[in-house]
Amino acid sequence: MALKIQAIRGMNDLLPEDTSIWQQVESVLRQTVASYGYSEMRMPVLEQTGLFSRAIGEVTDVVEKEMYTFEDRSGDSLSLRPEGTAGCVRACLEHNLIYNQEQRLWYMGPMFRHERPQKGRYRQFHQLGVEVFGLNGPDIDAEIITLTHDLWQKLGISEALTLELNTLGSAEERANYRAALIAFLEAHFDALDEDSRRRTHTNPLRVLDSKDPGVIEVLKDAPSLMDYLGGESRAHFEGLKRLLENAGIKYVINPRLVRGLDYYNLTVFEWTTTALGAQGTVCGGGRYDGLVSQLGGSDTPAVGFGLGLERLMLLLLTLNKVAVKPAVDVYVVGAGENASLYQATVSASLRAALPDVRIMNHCGGGAFKRQFKRADRLQARVAVICGEEECAARSVTVKDLRNAGAEQVTLSLDEAPAYINKLLHS
Ligand code: ATP
Ligand code: MG
Repeated sequence: MALKIQAIRGMNDLLPEDTSIWQQVESVLRQTVASYGYSEMRMPVLEQTGLFSRAIGEVTDVVEKEMYTFEDRSGDSLSLRPEGTAGCVRACLEHNLIYNQEQRLWYMGPMFRHERPQKGRYRQFHQLGVEVFGLNGPDIDAEIITLTHDLWQKLGISEALTLELNTLGSAEERANYRAALIAFLEAHFDALDEDSRRRTHTNPLRVLDSKDPGVIEVLKDAPSLMDYLGGESRAHFEGLKRLLENAGIKYVINPRLVRGLDYYNLTVFEWTTTALGAQGTVCGGGRYDGLVSQLGGSDTPAVGFGLGLERLMLLLLTLNKVAVKPAVDVYVVGAGENASLYQATVSASLRAALPDVRIMNHCGGGAFKRQFKRADRLQARVAVICGEEECAARSVTVKDLRNAGAEQVTLSLDEAPAYINKLLHS
């Protein structure tokens, strides 16, 4: 036998029992973003590499070590998108969506990062992204956070998630803070790990995000960005906190929350859980007012988030909040000489009358017993029997498979749909 080819490490197949759950969750996500009036964007998964290095920052984990970058046959450097914001901004600029107008957008799809695969961390993963352009107040920051909070409530997982909040101030405030932080890190250089030492001069704020216990200890005495904020930044942050309190959304301030991408300013937030081990951040986002102009547009305020769907699914499964749904409601069985012809006619007429009902036609014939076993295995609710007599009378016999004591009822093809519908909803 030939050697089997396997999937790429960290890239998952979703099997029918997975897609059953994904579809249920995706429909809650789509319904929720639509209920806020947001519109969908679909961007390509490949972009020019330069887009990401410019948007995300050269000295970030994502661009330094995680991108899938290659030269295509024309010699252009392309990368699989590691996140959606850069591509969304690129598309909006290219199609003139954000010049002098506001946009509230969402997208859903695969992202790619060459990371070490583990629970909750994959090389192809999926995000729901939300991006808002053209609004600069804390009201819109609060709105997108409220939207995520609505999602947790609808999915029944609010109790398991904590909102962590921080503000990164303006670029100028951050520059002043950066200088103070570098001085502090230099004074404690011996206690830093290699990554943090390297970042001290390239991207010192990222050191705040270090997971190294020694570095965390040192950082306890580090200067705080809060002390470097001016009046406007403070007012924005206070406004956001007031709006969240008004919406009944609890938060904790985490002064060390800086996020992994360089483009953020003012508001940053993460929804974290302790139920998934090390990969505890389910959703993260913030304000990125500088990015649009950095990518060649005019000054445009912007705010958004990315929600990791694999981590969301893991959390829902851990907390027993979703279950696989059977794919079939009605199983059509038959016997007799013309069974396959009559079954096909019956299935077609039922599908036409009941477009939302999942109707599977038994194929391959065989004894009724075997056909009913198949219906059981599929967890179908109703069997529709097309025997010799039914075929002759142009009728069907309908059997409730969840209620062993119930009588079978023989009905005309016209009467059957209403009766089946009633059974499915009883
Ligand atoms: P982490 O700190 O866990 O690496 P991140 O800061 O790199 O996350 P973002 O770039 O903010 O993550 O992406 C937003 C969300 O996408 C994360 O909160 C997470 O839920 C999800 N995510 C990011 N990377 C992965 C991955 N490799 N596999 C699965 N989900 C991921
Ligand atoms: Mg990461």
